[in-house]
Amino acid sequence: MGNLIIVLGDQLEERSAALAGLDPERDAVWMAEVDRETGAPWCHKRRIVLFLAAMRHFRDRLRRRGITVHYTELAPDPADDRGATFGELLAADARRLRPERLVVVEPGDWRVAEDLRTTAAALGLELAVRPDRHFYASRADFDAWAAGRRALTLEHFYRWMRKREGVLVNEAGEPVGGQWNFDHENRETFGPEGPPPIPRPRGFRPDGVTRGVIALVDRRFAHHPGRLAGFDLPVTPRQARSALDDFVTQRLPRFGPYQDAMAAGEPFLYHARLSSSLNLKLLDPRTCVEKAVAAYEAGEAPLASVEGFVRQILGWRELIRGIYWRFMPGYIEHNALGCTDRDVPECFWSGETEMNCVREAMRHVLDHGYAHHIERLMVLGLFAMQLGVHPRRFHDWHMAMYVDAVDWVSLPNALGMSQFGDGGIVGTKPYAASGAYVSRMSDYCAGCRYDPKRATGEDACPITTLYWDFLDRHRERFAGNRRMAFQMKNLSRKPERELAAIRERADRLRAAFDGGA
Ligand code: SF4
Repeated sequence: MGNLIIVLGDQLEERSAALAGLDPERDAVWMAEVDRETGAPWCHKRRIVLFLAAMRHFRDRLRRRGITVHYTELAPDPADDRGATFGELLAADARRLRPERLVVVEPGDWRVAEDLRTTAAALGLELAVRPDRHFYASRADFDAWAAGRRALTLEHFYRWMRKREGVLVNEAGEPVGGQWNFDHENRETFGPEGPPPIPRPRGFRPDGVTRGVIALVDRRFAHHPGRLAGFDLPVTPRQARSALDDFVTQRLPRFGPYQDAMAAGEPFLYHARLSSSLNLKLLDPRTCVEKAVAAYEAGEAPLASVEGFVRQILGWRELIRGIYWRFMPGYIEHNALGCTDRDVPECFWSGETEMNCVREAMRHVLDHGYAHHIERLMVLGLFAMQLGVHPRRFHDWHMAMYVDAVDWVSLPNALGMSQFGDGGIVGTKPYAASGAYVSRMSDYCAGCRYDPKRATGEDACPITTLYWDFLDRHRERFAGNRRMAFQMKNLSRKPERELAAIRERADRLRAAFDGGA
């Protein structure tokens, strides 16, 4: 045979460079469901279903186009799986099929790229790695932009991308509406009456293929965390485009103002819920940006909302991917705050805790494999960082529990942005805050047994206690950080007696969470 084209679980794109020039007479596609990738060591059931269902649909679409696809399904019983690792499965099939070369698009995971390279070398086969056309910026584009810069700042990168791509800019290269950034308009919270009506995101009833995967996961991964009931995520490009249309027409107008707000029982609010479709490449980012901009131009969505959405896709997502490849493989070793090997608390798996904010966010994670970015960053991420969880362990947990997590996106977001593990590559300051922030942005504190204003005493909010303890523990580290000056000044006003009580309560909290609280 000619080319054996490897398609990974997050490369489900029919316009992929891997398939360019495919000769159905000589070439074939290779895909595999790998036990060690899918469910190990521990993975949300909904995440497993999403990946396997989307992969099987992709396989079936290719076969309908007359393309040969060699596809290994997970066996219902783990004892019946014929191979253990991705490399072993690929090597066994390559020896049997005898291709001239292996072809793949740049993987989104440094470890997988290495695995492929060593497998191909061991087989004595050429490995052709083609560029990933899904992203606006190639890795070389990003490196050219980043070269010589002291800081890889989103705002600079985003403006460069807006001008380069001609998105929301006029002919003179100036931003439409006179501003690049509408963040100051996008910080609304809900009053006592709660959120305005929230149109439910469009869901997709599982077809026979997806129902087969759900049954498999229910049986084989029964002990894994998360719930499968009501699985309705897009698993095909057509469904993903329908979900995009639904977002743009139903929720985009309110996305901007309320993007940082949180409300009990509302996992999605006005968020897009498109990240899993984007990261599996069921959806093209250009389509997302074009639809949102078209809604603005048609007067159907305000500029502040559209710009906020475009910033996420054209700015943040592309920046994060560039940073991942620029700093890997060393990036994963970063532990800038000198954390011990502390793991995430047990409630990050079970959702059982008296902290109402964590319980609410974890309900969303367990029910949907999803929490919107403020719950991720400013509840679960913030709590983990202030507790002292090791950033690598937080990333591992994030990879296991979110349907949209793949390595290139999780590592800089979870280890870097959320946990400040990279010491300032992604963000210039840690996202640290007391319970007052959660109280301002949500209705969670009203239903909590703790008091967000208190840092000591039995009803003190754990987030508030750990916030002051975090600043205190890292006093020297943050002394020269101008963006932390306000917080450090407030810390310096705390009397030593109060700080001693905070330290003592923080130690007790850590012991309790380490013990499974
Ligand atoms: Fe969370 Fe503290 Fe508010 Fe309770 S009081 S919901 S623990 S921030």
